[in-house]
Amino acid sequence: MKHPKLERLVSLRREIHKHPELKYEEFKTAELVKSELEKLGFTYQDKIATTGIVSLIDSGIPGKTLLIRADMDALPIHEENKTSYTSIHQGKMHACGHDAHTAVLVGLAEELKQDIKSIIPKGRVLLTFQPAEEGGSGADKMIEEGILEKYNIDGCFALHVWNHVDLGKVGVVDGTMMASVDEFSIKVIGVSGHGAMPQHTVDPILVSAHIITALQTIVSRNTDPLEPCVVTVGMINAGNAFNVIPEFAMMKGTVRTYSKKVYEDAPKKLKQIVEGIAESFGAKVELEYKRVDKPTINDPKMANIVRQAAKKILGENSITEEEVRTMGGEDFSAFLMKVPGCYFFVGSRNIEKGFVNPHHSSKFDFDEDSMPIGLDVMKEVIRIYLSE
Ligand SMILES: [Zn+2]
Ligand SMILES: [Zn+2]
Repeated sequence: MKHPKLERLVSLRREIHKHPELKYEEFKTAELVKSELEKLGFTYQDKIATTGIVSLIDSGIPGKTLLIRADMDALPIHEENKTSYTSIHQGKMHACGHDAHTAVLVGLAEELKQDIKSIIPKGRVLLTFQPAEEGGSGADKMIEEGILEKYNIDGCFALHVWNHVDLGKVGVVDGTMMASVDEFSIKVIGVSGHGAMPQHTVDPILVSAHIITALQTIVSRNTDPLEPCVVTVGMINAGNAFNVIPEFAMMKGTVRTYSKKVYEDAPKKLKQIVEGIAESFGAKVELEYKRVDKPTINDPKMANIVRQAAKKILGENSITEEEVRTMGGEDFSAFLMKVPGCYFFVGSRNIEKGFVNPHHSSKFDFDEDSMPIGLDVMKEVIRIYLSE
């Protein structure tokens, strides 16, 4: 039997899918969200972090306030699927499933309008439509603009449709689920000269080689072996002749961590190694270290609420931890650093129907039956959390 909400969610999702917008350009998507909220008679605050929207739904009975987040942005990818809802914007595509998240949150607003009492026994829910999850730190910007304080947020949840988990399953873990994402760039400045007369130079290529090697000791010698950490130098550029020692070398790379401690320590350690090695060779160095995403760390109590909800909606064996932890990043982590919460995956893989392509692939699509499942699990999560 078809879920009564399926058709509505599919039509919302396909409308959004057809018209993808990149980070901080989600103007049409925001318009759609606002017009749906207006139809329901819900007030909202808009233009948060450019295109973000929040709508506070109050049960009228004192209690806690829970933030539920959906991200709205698409990716700069040209869609290769041929469907009735394929992206009509060249080079832009909802290839991560954020179209589903926005549709589900609008669907949740509609359910709240229909029957608020059965979903929010007491307290309030802040429906949060966020821009720029994909490398734009939209979550951080919404926090900087004060929504957590303004609405007195006590807890937070977000779901992600996930093609590495089968339809009908929910992926959730206690503690860290996704890694932090940091980005660094290093410019090593030496003294250029003849390749045959190194005594008159400071060779930035040799210095860089030592830096690259030593950076791996952050993982192998400075970090608890039981704590995941990756340091990757993914780009190096220097010189343009075989017999010339160039003036400088450029490197770029990424650091990924799982625990709060490793996350906090990593930039200090990297700076120490880079500056120490450069100095020992008489080179100068310019280091830029940029935080992109924090580690996504679930509160075990909140993860338990997700498990309870999923079991009620999908049955006892519906929870999985397989392929749930990844070294990828997610900016919902910014909310999780501020208030207890849980981020979870709603399985959207269906091998029989061919929904198997990974997120960020130009052939990504998912089983739309995952949307009413996500909606039902989220409704139950809200009910359990706000009953306490
Ligand atoms: Zn993504
Ligand atoms: Zn995503």
